[in-house]
Amino acid sequence: MAERTYKRSLPRLRDPMAVAFYGHCKNHELRFQRCTDCQAWRHVPRDLCAKCGSFNWEWAKSAGKGKVFSWTTAMQPMLPPFADAIPYSPVVIEMDEGVRMVSWLTNVANDDLRLGLPVEVEFEDVTPEVTLPKFKKVVSSQ
Ligand SMILES: [Zn+2]
Repeated sequence: MAERTYKRSLPRLRDPMAVAFYGHCKNHELRFQRCTDCQAWRHVPRDLCAKCGSFNWEWAKSAGKGKVFSWTTAMQPMLPPFADAIPYSPVVIEMDEGVRMVSWLTNVANDDLRLGLPVEVEFEDVTPEVTLPKFKKVVSSQ
């Protein structure tokens, strides 16, 4: 068995929807559920559309772009494997499709975090099985 070098927590891939979500991430695609009756996007994955009550949905590909909606900066590690990262800032990203997800910014210092900061997804293959969606600040070409 290969040595596990990634020390931080990994998603539990037991629920079929989590398996599907991270399966798309492994292919470097960010996909969210979208209701095929009313077209509402949703995340985290679940059976029922909260807008229209439909059980019909698809995995629709996100454009991968969004904005910083919120964050908190941890000054003490909540878990030992994060001790080398403090201070670190888990962020809530609001995607252009309207759904929000918790993630990590890869190229933004804590002091440079701003509400509405434009970001785009990138993927980090942390183990042979798991790829995590993370985000980077969109650098303007001007
Ligand atoms: Zn719906």
